[in-house]
Amino acid sequence: PQDGRLMKLVIVGHVDHGKSTLVGRLLADTDSLPTGKLDFVKNICDQQGKSFEFAFLLDALEEEQEQGITIDTSQIFFKTEKRWYVIIDAPGHKEFLKNMVTGAANAEAALLLIDAHEGVQEQSRRHGYILRLLGMTQVAVVINKMDLVKYDPEVYFRIKSEYTQFLESIGIEVREFIPISAKEGENVAKRSEHMPWYTGPTILERLDQFQEKVSTVEKPFRMPIQDVYKFDQRRIIAGRVESGTAKVGDRVLFSPSNKSTVIKSIETWNADTPAAVEAPHSVGITLAEQLFLERGEIISLEKNAPVVTTTFDANVFWMGQRHLKRGETYKLKLTTQNVDCEVVEFKKAIDASTLETLPDQDFIAKNDVAEVTLRTKRPVAFDLFTEIAETGRFVLVDEYDVCGGGIITHFTPLEEVDR
Ligand code: GDP
Repeated sequence: PQDGRLMKLVIVGHVDHGKSTLVGRLLADTDSLPTGKLDFVKNICDQQGKSFEFAFLLDALEEEQEQGITIDTSQIFFKTEKRWYVIIDAPGHKEFLKNMVTGAANAEAALLLIDAHEGVQEQSRRHGYILRLLGMTQVAVVINKMDLVKYDPEVYFRIKSEYTQFLESIGIEVREFIPISAKEGENVAKRSEHMPWYTGPTILERLDQFQEKVSTVEKPFRMPIQDVYKFDQRRIIAGRVESGTAKVGDRVLFSPSNKSTVIKSIETWNADTPAAVEAPHSVGITLAEQLFLERGEIISLEKNAPVVTTTFDANVFWMGQRHLKRGETYKLKLTTQNVDCEVVEFKKAIDASTLETLPDQDFIAKNDVAEVTLRTKRPVAFDLFTEIAETGRFVLVDEYDVCGGGIITHFTPLEEVDR
């Protein structure tokens, strides 16, 4: 897909609740598979004497990928009448949770699957929590495998009410639930005749109703420095504009160093020199004065700068084998900044699947969530997540592994931090 709009989608839910099957079904029912692929996989199933499953389509695509033949299964595309979709990270991938938590996936909408027969399970809750943590508001809950419960509305409404209660308790307002059978293709692309009691949208209709990500152009200008290149006398500051817009002649501030000067030129990779730049483009800029600048600084307009401090509150999801402990040092990666930090306080620790508050403790284990106060070794620049998501989230690295991710909810101004 080259032109037109593209929406990034994640499909989450407990293992075996039907994520791969739904992906296969979506590809097949929207004619998004390579020609002949469906018959090919069906034939192989016949030859091997097993019955066809839609989830095999994903496996087949994955095998081809390993042989270097086709597409990247971490990016699966399909198309509706309205637009293209890309499913990021085929469910089941090792890095799935990590990509979600770190925001690498950066999805605009999510489908959360629950097996009608098994009901709400541990990961149904945990994934719901993570979506909340990531600030994901466009979520449809899909009750799958309705064929296994004979399309019984009572089962559907019972799960819907149980899960709605859970979502409300973590502050998500989801009104939309969709009963489907991914296997039989009921309410996916085609309205189900077995469920006349359901009058809401099918999966495809629901997807097409999701809003495209609100542009970050309207927000304050933020461009984290990725690199500084030197050519003869010239220095080009390279980075990606995460939000807002700036133009030649604007006075800009660098945070956390607090230096300032004026943009002399904007340069793009194809040698254009536009008068202005806006999110989400990667550009180089040159400055009116030679300043010593390094990777990690956030460039903003002088009159609307990010926060600079060492101490802030965050909601953190932890995935490390070793516990996240108070007083230990971790690497904080926030935009292109990379700085040592420690948890100075656990305000609240929660088991993300049961939502039980863990008793007063100064650590959390794998898959737990906590509200913590973090302190960095030197000041960092950021925004509150609710104001600018791109500069309001971070990941934590323990030794060499990304072990957690979080969003910034409050901060203590630098002059109020007691050392
Ligand atoms: P995942 O782990 O969430 O990706 O789940 P899969 O898509 O691999 O599905 C797990 C099992 O449930 C497979 O055996 C599927 O055939 C089966 N399954 C998935 N969706 C449905 C459905 O709508 N109805 C029935 N009866 N089985 C399904």
